[in-house]
Amino acid sequence: MKDHYDVIVVGAGPGGSIAAKTAAKEGLDVLMIEKRQEIGDPIRCAEGVGKFHLKQHIEPDPRWICADVKGSCIISPDGTKVKMAEEMSGGEVGYVLERKIFDRALANESALAGAEVMVKTRATDLIIENDTVCGIKLMHLGKMHEVRSKIVIGADGMESKVGRWAGIETAVKPSDMETCAQYLVSNANIDQEFCYFYLGNEIAPAGYVWMFPKGGNKANVGIGILGSKSGEDRPIDLLNAFMEKNMPDAKIIEMVIGGVPVCGTIDRTIANGLMLVGDAARQSDPITGGGIINAMDAGKIAGEIAAKAIRNGDCSTDTLQEYEELWRKTIGKEINNSLIVKETFVKFTDEDLNSLAYSLKDINFTSMSLLDLLKALFKANKKLLWDLRGIF
Ligand code: FAD
Repeated sequence: MKDHYDVIVVGAGPGGSIAAKTAAKEGLDVLMIEKRQEIGDPIRCAEGVGKFHLKQHIEPDPRWICADVKGSCIISPDGTKVKMAEEMSGGEVGYVLERKIFDRALANESALAGAEVMVKTRATDLIIENDTVCGIKLMHLGKMHEVRSKIVIGADGMESKVGRWAGIETAVKPSDMETCAQYLVSNANIDQEFCYFYLGNEIAPAGYVWMFPKGGNKANVGIGILGSKSGEDRPIDLLNAFMEKNMPDAKIIEMVIGGVPVCGTIDRTIANGLMLVGDAARQSDPITGGGIINAMDAGKIAGEIAAKAIRNGDCSTDTLQEYEELWRKTIGKEINNSLIVKETFVKFTDEDLNSLAYSLKDINFTSMSLLDLLKALFKANKKLLWDLRGIF
């Protein structure tokens, strides 16, 4: 470890690794630090990603792909099934990843691009001088160090402190958190080419239960419920009730507890000398809770803008504002649309959900996008979904 870099990236999740790789490829001197001793472990994720977007960042590798998903199936409270499959749409669907290997592969790509990667290294504070972030204080193997940089990229995930240290408001109200519990199970006995989503206020208040195939008759089975709706129900108790009813023969071999911010975009993700990406910038999707691709997309933009700022010799918010604008035009627009959808859907009763599912069950979708699903829903249920009209 040197005492000065162009860029320091805090956190080696998908957002951090893509930011580090992009900046290193631009010829910058990059340090990426990760507090855990093993990148990607433990995971807090259902590991589902869209193929098309993933391929923009990394070549798919069978070593970290557990299942090649051909479609998804939404099950309403009364059991009505809405199936969307590749064979109907001709489009590609997604993968279920082995994130322990995937995150490591991404970090390896950033190292191969020239970034220095340090594990078991925790950022403990920022160095701030004249209202500008100039580096970080870190703890490595029990020793404190100060390392300076022209830019810090905070990619430190859901529990991010980097933003807060820089005076950015990143707090998420408990009511805007999706609290999640998940089991990895064997003996799952589900179609390994489909992802399943179970809706219903008894099953998962203002949320859903997912079953994602993991290959070899295994599956990630999890639940996410909105903080404002959870009341007395703990996600783990609801998940256990679901498992007992729907997967009595499944064997639990791993457990994950975690939270996903579903608050929509925050006001600011930059400061002088600093950018936040991924979960640290609250860039996960309010309706699906998915954040891997958004983190990677934001990481790429941040890496490119870091290079531009350093080349121009101006790392103030004047230059970093371009990062803010670029991610809001793409990722931000989708997050805002999803927030409208989420706020509409959380008001629905089980009867509403049943009637929505019923209106879709015989439709042959021409694409797998959420937007097309919503368009079809809106067409058939204008009155119920009038609040969504601004999206189309
Ligand atoms: P992270 O992947 O969280 O990486 C942040 C890294 O920073 C971590 O490795 C952490 O150890 C490190 N770090 C934190 N603090 C410090 C520090 N002070 N110093 C050094 N390092 C630090 N998304 C999807 O797209 N698909 C899904 O199916 C999906 N399922 C999910 C299921 C659950 C139960 C949960 C909780 C989340 C799920 N998500 C899913 C969301 C997804 O996991 C995140 O959006 C994604 O990991 C965000 O990537 P990131 O790089 O921003 O942060």
